[in-house]
Order: sequence, then structure tokens, then C-alpha cells
Amino acid sequence: MTPKSIFKKSRPNVSGASIVDADFQLGESIGVCCEAEDLRDAPIGLPELSEIDVVRHFTNLSRQAHGVDNGPYPLGSCTMKYNPKRNDKLAMLDGFGKVHPYQPSDSMPGVWSMLWNLQTAIAEITGMDAVTLQPAAGAHGEFTGLLVMKKHFEKLGQTNRKVILIPDTAHGTNPASAAMCGFTCKIIATNSKGLMDLDAFEAHLDENVAGLMITNPSTLGLFEENIEHIAKRIHDNGSLLYYDGANLNAIMGLIRPGDMGFDIIHINTHKTLSTPHGGGGPGAGPCGVKAFLEPYLPTPVVRPIDGVPAPDCNRPESVGKVKMHFGHVEVLVRAYCYILANGAIGLKTATENAVLNANYMKHQLADLLPAAFPQNCMHECLLHGGSLKVRGADFVKRLIDFGVHPPTLVGAGCVHFAEEFDEAMLIEPTETESIESLDFVIEQFRKVAREAAVAPYMIETAPHSASTAKIIHNEAVWMSIYDPND
Ligand SMILES: *Cc1c(COP(=O)(O)O)cnc(C)c1O
Repeated sequence: MTPKSIFKKSRPNVSGASIVDADFQLGESIGVCCEAEDLRDAPIGLPELSEIDVVRHFTNLSRQAHGVDNGPYPLGSCTMKYNPKRNDKLAMLDGFGKVHPYQPSDSMPGVWSMLWNLQTAIAEITGMDAVTLQPAAGAHGEFTGLLVMKKHFEKLGQTNRKVILIPDTAHGTNPASAAMCGFTCKIIATNSKGLMDLDAFEAHLDENVAGLMITNPSTLGLFEENIEHIAKRIHDNGSLLYYDGANLNAIMGLIRPGDMGFDIIHINTHKTLSTPHGGGGPGAGPCGVKAFLEPYLPTPVVRPIDGVPAPDCNRPESVGKVKMHFGHVEVLVRAYCYILANGAIGLKTATENAVLNANYMKHQLADLLPAAFPQNCMHECLLHGGSLKVRGADFVKRLIDFGVHPPTLVGAGCVHFAEEFDEAMLIEPTETESIESLDFVIEQFRKVAREAAVAPYMIETAPHSASTAKIIHNEAVWMSIYDPND
């Protein structure tokens, strides 16, 4: 049975608050000034419920979802890490949570200092020269970076450069962002080692190529070992190299995209620097560039003016605004707190643990789910589900009954893989999980595999005990998300 929406639970004249009838004339009360024509002439149509109805409604809804606060969440390509609650608390400080975007800019020096310090920290971590914090998500950071790239070639008068090269392992947002910026995409095949096929790359490299967008490590969890060679070839061709930094947490503190030769990057703060991530946001996708592209970054930027960080709107060459005000500042506060709380050593340790945890899972599950590629993985591993007695889509649904969120399944819409990886699972434990927690996940995988051998029906009809089971069976929501043939 589908749970009733809060509107369906409404009962006439029930209220959670008692407001004494106020007796004031329009426009009289302090700070409220409205004209008769601005008032609604029909009721607003909000549901009428008591406070306890509302609390129960939302508490019950929250229990129907498996989140990182309930149990392990090894969903690949998403880095659903634990988010320190301290960061939420700091983001809610009055000086951040209660500022109004239209209040005078000189009344919030703390916000500008925080944004400036965060920009500087991200530039340092990624090896870039300038950073904008405006983009609202990773995909939006891609869009911003590609607008900068487009502007660069417009300035050079090279308007023929309309092609973006994208490996076939890329996240689906890469070609989407390129298309939105007016580029056409050429997709580059992956070789047998899981890396970008260099012959296919050379075959596409010509005077019409604006840039190559590459995720390193890729969505296969593999480090692109030819990256310096690739950067050289791209630059020799007069093109630019774009870094999709969604997987930055596999290299943060160890190496920097700026040093690998990337000209433009975005990172996903909600994947690498904490912030609850899921249900569509909010996130932040800071975009960084090398100095020669800095003039094109969105306006305004925060930079020291007379020694004090403040917004600078005087940017004649900017691509314009990509987001109202300064982006998702409350998400950015969390990212800043995460960086400060961990420090340089802590960020590096987080990276090392993320990589160690993924390799541990890969080795422990090797007999059940062999790795798609033999080399050590980075922060996530791609495992073959081919020898399972059931479909991967059913297998991962059964995991929910045992308290583990499904890993990313090939064809899940998030990752766009080549056919030969069908039935593969992308597992990303993140640095958060302890060895006990990883062993728990591994044991649940084995439990489902044992069951698949003796009672495949149990797997095919899963989930059974998860609180969402009824909804799933009725609405086939799950299948529409996870069916690999979808
Ligand atoms: C998640 C992801 C994106 C998109 O980021 P959003 O913040 O979800 O918009 C882009 N590329 C890769 C590799 C990703 O994993």
C-alpha cells in the first residue's frame, strides 16, 4: 500500500498551532506591508493536521528509506559518506543560517572570509589557481567549466572547436553538460585494462576538439595511468583538459589534478567534503581553473579587496552568473568545516582509507564476485555478478532486507558502461566504514548468494522485510530504477 500523502491525511479545522485572532489593519503591523490586491482570495490549501500527525508522518517516511545513518551504503560512484553532525550545527550558526542574500554586503564579513578561505583551500587541494563556489552541484560545475572553455575559444576566435571527447566510462552528466553548452560529443572506447583507449583517442583528436572531459579515477574505480601523456597530446592539439572531480576523494591529499595537467575542474563537495547527499540535493560543485581562464569565471567572485574578502562584481569577461547569490552557502560551510576538522593529514588519511576499504571489499569478495579488472582499484571496485544464480538486479534488492544499501548496478542510469560489464556491481564503501562494518556487508553478500543457490525465488521477489517492500511490490518503483534493461 502506498503511504498516504500528507494532503490525504488532512482533516478540516485541525491545526498544530493556536494563533490568537489578531486584530490589525492591512499594512499596519511593523514590517508587514501588503496591498489588498496582493492577498490571496482562496485558501492556501495546506493540509490541516495536528502537530503529532505531522511528526509521525515525516518520522515514518524517514524510516522507509535506507540512509547512511541507518547502515552501510556501498553505492558506487556516489560517495555517500558519513556527514559529521557538527558540520550541520555550524552551518546553522546565525551568522550563516540567518543571513539574507540581499542584506548589505558589508554586514556579513564572516561569510566572505569563509567563502574566500574555502576557495583558497579547494585551489590548494586541487592544484588550481582560481575557484568559483557558485555551481549548485557536480553537473552544474561541469556546465560552468564548459562555459568557461567555450568562452576561451571564442576569445581565441577558434569557434570551430565544438567537439568534446568523453570516455565511455563517464558519468551521464558529462555528455549532457557538453550538449547544454552547445558542444557535440565524441565517445572514446575503453581498452581491456579499463583505461581510455589511446588509439581511439588519437583517432578523434583534431582541430575541432575543444577539450577532453575525463574522470580520474574513472567510474570503473581505476586510475588513468596515461594521464600525463593524454594531457600533453590535448595541449599539443590546442585543446583543454577537463577534470570531473566527483572521485576526488580517491586522490585528495596525495596528488592534484592541477599537477596532472588539467585546465578546468569541478568537485562535488557533497561527495568529497561531506554534506548529506541524496534525494536530489542540495550540493555544491565548485569549479576551478588555471590562471589564464580566471577572467571567465562566473560573477561575482569573492576576493580580498583592500585586504578584506568581499564580493567582486567587476568582471567584464565573465561567463555571467550561474546561480543566484553565492551558491549553496550552507553546503559550503559544511565543506569548509570538513577541511578544517581533518586538516591536511586527515584529508590524506581519509583518501587512503577510502582506497584501502574498496580494495578490502574487492579481495574479500573475489571468490563470489570476481573483479572486472585485475589491478588494485581506487576508492571503488567493479565486480562481476555473472556467476550469481540470480539477476544482479534481484540480488541487490535482497541486500536491503539485510540492512545494506545496494551497490550501483550496471545500467542503473547513473553510470553508462559498455555491454561487457552487464550484471556488474560498482561498490564504494568510502573511508567512513570500519572493518567490522565492511565484514558485515561482505557477510550479507554471502548470505544472499547462499540463498540464491537454494531459494532463488526469495531473491527474485525481494525485498521482503524492508519497510519499503510493500510500496515496491505495488508500484514497481524499484524495478524502474534498477532494471538493467531499462
Ligand atoms: C555524481 C557524479 C557527477 C554528477 O554530480 P552531481 O553532483 O550529482 O550533479 C558527475 N560525474 C561523476 C563521475 C559523478 O560520480
